[in-house]
Amino acid sequence: MEDVVQLFDKVDQNREAMVDTWKLLVDRDCGSGNKAGVDGVGRDVKDFLEKCGFKVWFHEYEKAGNMLVAEYGDASKPFIVLTGHMDTVFGDGTAAARPFTIKDGKVTGPGVLDMKGGVTILLYAVRFLLEAGYNRYRIKIILAGDEEVAHGNSTASADYEKEAKGAVMGFNLETGCVDNSVVIERKGVAQYLFEVDGVGAHAGNNPEDGRSAVEELAHKILDIQAETDWQEGTTVNCGVIAGGTVANAVPEHAWVKVDVRFKTTAGMERIEKAFQKIAKKQYVESTTTCCKKLVVFPPMERLESSEKLFERAEAIAEKYGFPKAKAIAVGGGSDSAHLTACGIPTLCALGVRGQFNHTEREWAEEESLFERTKLLMALLSEL
Ligand SMILES: [Zn+2]
Repeated sequence: MEDVVQLFDKVDQNREAMVDTWKLLVDRDCGSGNKAGVDGVGRDVKDFLEKCGFKVWFHEYEKAGNMLVAEYGDASKPFIVLTGHMDTVFGDGTAAARPFTIKDGKVTGPGVLDMKGGVTILLYAVRFLLEAGYNRYRIKIILAGDEEVAHGNSTASADYEKEAKGAVMGFNLETGCVDNSVVIERKGVAQYLFEVDGVGAHAGNNPEDGRSAVEELAHKILDIQAETDWQEGTTVNCGVIAGGTVANAVPEHAWVKVDVRFKTTAGMERIEKAFQKIAKKQYVESTTTCCKKLVVFPPMERLESSEKLFERAEAIAEKYGFPKAKAIAVGGGSDSAHLTACGIPTLCALGVRGQFNHTEREWAEEESLFERTKLLMALLSEL
């Protein structure tokens, strides 16, 4: 195995190829709803990894992008997991409308930060390491195809944990923070749909016969919002509402979609009970409300072993002159939740640095692609 500094030279010599791969991954529509697009990314990644000597297979799903799993190394060796996702939140046509662009060291394009940059880092770090004879751990790569929709239409969550179980460490190449922070804790996410049925009537001729679903929902929205508990770390957001059809009819139907973020399972259980109670309550007589859980994604729990792993990683980063980092907790979910659920010490947000995920303003720092590939190689060589 060459020494780590020699490995860094490989990055400097291959900057153009790395950017080309990044561009290839960005310039295609692969929103979570576009299975063909996501599976196309999976095929490109598979080709790349097979050339490096990996064995690659997919967990296939009918209604979601397939999950790629790749493995390299002696089965008797302990293994590490490198992970991320291949889907984005952007609809079809986005890749053509605003393709991969570099200007003044800032890179833009759909998913450039979340997380095509991270996938590129992962691919080149393992390529350079294996070319240099890396054999410290068996490497397993898990890349989901439907992370942005919390694996709602597939069995990827369960499949993920089956694949990850037993790993000694996990590294998620998710979106990096501009201040260089490393994420070791994330909130869980749940989404609910409240649907209210009332009684429709003409607003001019017989309003007294109507029972307004919108009025009922308006009361309930205030009740739902009031379940936020900052101290507990549980927040509730009524994100989308709709109801009624025309202004001159008492609305028969209304609904709201609610997003819940929680730090602990206990917080989630409290919300579940409160929401069912709110659904049962009636402000406008003869209306009925039904509350459905649409998706639930577990929290990335803070493990003591993750804190220790971070400290060791920081010492290595410092030794090679990488910028200082701190370990943080954030509200957004990621598949790292599945790693910590298996008790695997995990560092998340090791991807390219940037801002404004899930928006048109999303951008990534070009230089961080190279820096963080070097960092990942240093960590895998010494941890
Ligand atoms: Zn992401």
